[in-house]
Amino acid sequence: MAVNLLDFDLEGLAAFCDSLGEKRFRAVQLFRWIHQKGESDFDKMSDLAKSLRGKLAGAAVVESLPVISEHVSADGTTKWLFDVGGGNAVETVYIPEDDRGTLCVSSQAGCAVGCRFCSTGHQGFSRNLSTGEIIAQLRYAEHRLRGPDGQRVIDNVVMMGMGEPLQNYTAVVPALRVMLDDHGYGLSRRRVTVSTSGMVAMIDRLREDCPVALAVSLHAPNDALRDALVPINRKDGIEALLDACLRYVEAAPRDFITFEYCMLDGVNDAPEQALELVHLVRRRRVPCKFNLIPFNPFPESGLKRSPRERVTAFAKVLQDAGIVTTIRKVRGDDIDAACGQLAGEVQDRTRARERLLERRRTIPIAAAEDPR
Ligand code: SF4
Repeated sequence: MAVNLLDFDLEGLAAFCDSLGEKRFRAVQLFRWIHQKGESDFDKMSDLAKSLRGKLAGAAVVESLPVISEHVSADGTTKWLFDVGGGNAVETVYIPEDDRGTLCVSSQAGCAVGCRFCSTGHQGFSRNLSTGEIIAQLRYAEHRLRGPDGQRVIDNVVMMGMGEPLQNYTAVVPALRVMLDDHGYGLSRRRVTVSTSGMVAMIDRLREDCPVALAVSLHAPNDALRDALVPINRKDGIEALLDACLRYVEAAPRDFITFEYCMLDGVNDAPEQALELVHLVRRRRVPCKFNLIPFNPFPESGLKRSPRERVTAFAKVLQDAGIVTTIRKVRGDDIDAACGQLAGEVQDRTRARERLLERRRTIPIAAAEDPR
């Protein structure tokens, strides 16, 4: 079977070229054609030796993902649905802002973590994406969105789409390397963010292998509530997670961790809970910023968005304690592209969805939850 060259970072491609009897500089040329020029046809890679093009034609392909749909929001946010086969489709979102363009990339078809407020989690889990399927999302958006003079618009990538990236570690790390590589997309480490629900051991591995910016989905100030909202918390707990964050910061390209906090009405949005957060991060001396995310309700969640004034009051408690806190703007919600709304199409093979619904039935998180 032909090898998909999108599955390789530059070292992997160099090893593949070596297996064809080709020198490393050929791999660099090939890598630049594939990622910087967006070329898939070896015959059009004009400065590659004809002999190499001949070898590649039989042994390799550059396999893009078929695009099922593209939706553009009134605010310019663009969402693509990509077919990854087997009845599964994943979503990728481009968010234009005044000073930057951010691409939100998926790492799995579905997600097995099952966070209570997350639309992807409610879809269940089918499978991990390959490195090629992850990087194909960026490659497509990069070349689709380039301006008429070839100017680039994506300068920020966040692994915050469908899936828990650190549960697909072996595919995600080479994809990150392609994003960072000057012969690939040349993104700064500070502008590539992995967002995790908090897998302690994998945060440590990422620190060693490919430290990029880190966002942690915290969503609760204590274990009792976090266990109910983010079930993976039951494995390590918040204290161990904060320890991992402290270790990560030593190697990270930014000197802080971003804590994501989805604001759920009557669940985690009280001023006392903000104060509890302040005590938590101060006691552990974790350099951090908070990003408060307005919840995007979907029917199955049974949860509601915190009123604006409650979010502002929550932010004020954190800000008054000297913690940099932002409230995320809702973008693309008219096309279901806002945070936590990505659902794609997932053939749930692991009963993840069933487990989530069962947990929801047996562990109510607050009186505020509407047990539909
Ligand atoms: S928030 Fe992230 S980790 Fe949690 S279920 Fe959704 S995709 Fe998975």
